[in-house]
Amino acid sequence: MFRTAQTNGTWDFPPRYRKVVSGRGFGMASTSLWMSVDVAPNARPLFQNERCDVAVVGAGIAGLSTAYELAQRNMSVIVIDRARIASGMTARTTAHLAPLCDDLMSEFKKLRGLEAAKLFYESHAAAVDRIEEIQELENIDCSFRRLDGYLFQGDGMPADVIDKELEVVREVGAPVDRHVGVPLRGCEDRQALKYPRQGTFHPLKYLAGLVRACEVRGVRVFS
Ligand SMILES: Cc1cc2nc3c(=O)[nH]c(=O)nc-3n(C[C@H](O)[C@H](O)[C@H](O)COP(=O)(O)OP(=O)(O)OC[C@H]3O[C@@H](n4cnc5c(N)ncnc54)[C@H](O)[C@@H]3O)c2cc1C
Repeated sequence: MFRTAQTNGTWDFPPRYRKVVSGRGFGMASTSLWMSVDVAPNARPLFQNERCDVAVVGAGIAGLSTAYELAQRNMSVIVIDRARIASGMTARTTAHLAPLCDDLMSEFKKLRGLEAAKLFYESHAAAVDRIEEIQELENIDCSFRRLDGYLFQGDGMPADVIDKELEVVREVGAPVDRHVGVPLRGCEDRQALKYPRQGTFHPLKYLAGLVRACEVRGVRVFS
């Protein structure tokens, strides 16, 4: 975390971060391929009082998915963001939809135990399935596709990290295959796990479709 100070209407960053963010404004440290999509062209500033059942604060994938699920259940919903809709972390993601923890399921189990690790996997797998279902249901053209993911031994990493991970991934019930070698130059001998049928998509095209589907159900979006 880093702190910022606002003076005379402009944000100031600690010196070590200035190089990264210079000229890009608050929070805009990077520009991604996704960002050319205007996710919510109808979004307007909120100047007046509004009534609703639920106000969702924050319009990334979490907030907009929540708004969609609530609107599906006939609730009246407002979404409010302090910035452009979907311009936060969701605009910068690698967009690989993986039901398993990047920081290793074996580490997760060590910290939280097997039951929580199982719940983590099951909820993330259900979330990926739900994205697949919604983009079909709502005809969202977001290049969703299933693809295999690989976890492979990094430079200097002991090989048994992969075997320990395999054990826990099997315990939580996720599909996994053991491999040696991945199709990258210099990685022919690396110990690896293959996770079949993970996912990927264009996150902001997906959210643009989700906003349209929300608006059809009466959701009001403000930024
Ligand atoms: C480089 C990178 C690569 C990643 N790769 C992957 C990946 O491959 N797979 C994966 O699953 N995840 C990945 N992630 C993580 C993933 O992008 C995030 O977990 C996800 O996008 C978070 O979504 P969100 O809706 O919670 O947050 P955000 O998308 O950040 O949305 C939060 C929104 O809330 C708004 N907001 C914040 N505070 C307020 C406030 N006080 N009032 C009003 N609005 C507010 C912000 O403006 C923003 O629009 C990656 C992240 C990064 C940075």
